[in-house]
Amino acid sequence: MNVRPRGRRRQYRIAASLICYLVGSAVGAVILGMGIAIFAADSSLVVRLQSTEAADRSWWKSEVPTKERIDWRLRGRRKQTTFPGLEIIEYKAGAFSLETGQPETATATRVDAGWPFFCLTGSSWYLMTASSPPGSPIILESSAFRFETASGSRIVPWRLRPFGLLLNAVVMGLLVAIGPTIWLLARRIERRMRGKCPACGYPTVGVRCSECGRIGRHRHLVPDEPDRPMLTREP
Ligand SMILES: [Zn+2]
Repeated sequence: MNVRPRGRRRQYRIAASLICYLVGSAVGAVILGMGIAIFAADSSLVVRLQSTEAADRSWWKSEVPTKERIDWRLRGRRKQTTFPGLEIIEYKAGAFSLETGQPETATATRVDAGWPFFCLTGSSWYLMTASSPPGSPIILESSAFRFETASGSRIVPWRLRPFGLLLNAVVMGLLVAIGPTIWLLARRIERRMRGKCPACGYPTVGVRCSECGRIGRHRHLVPDEPDRPMLTREP
């Protein structure tokens, strides 16, 4: 009668600790992504020039702070800088102001970070609007912040990419769990080889540990009844 609620409580506890574990791993994945964006070594950054594609144009259209107001056209090629867990793409664009007929220029830096999958995204913008009278350029960070380092300023993204974050949280969780799991398994094997109870390390003579009550290999088969002597024979 008592077994069911206890079993359910155990399930809740396992589910709750699994959720806490995943949340902790997700936080770890975010910190790692931001850390890579800040501390990626300049000497290891790989820079490439690539031609822009439809995906680049649609990214620009959906993210540009001026939205539909200015019809930007991407110009030239995109500059892609990569590092394990980091991708920085720089775009240039131009447009003619409908208001003044003057050319307007814009640049954007898109940063994706996270390891092994990108879980953070953000961008930095410089928009020179050819308004009349000439105004000051629009400079802003979108879902990102600037971090000054010894080698210059870094753009650190903070908008979450849910799918990448979930995958990274699982990977982080597994990586963090590997060390303790190997240690626990090794300790159990070592205790068993020395004739000790694998659960608590107490020297065990019989089938059942006199210290913690663990029953040898028949853990689930023998009912847990402490008053009954364990080694009596059935009549
Ligand atoms: Zn024991």
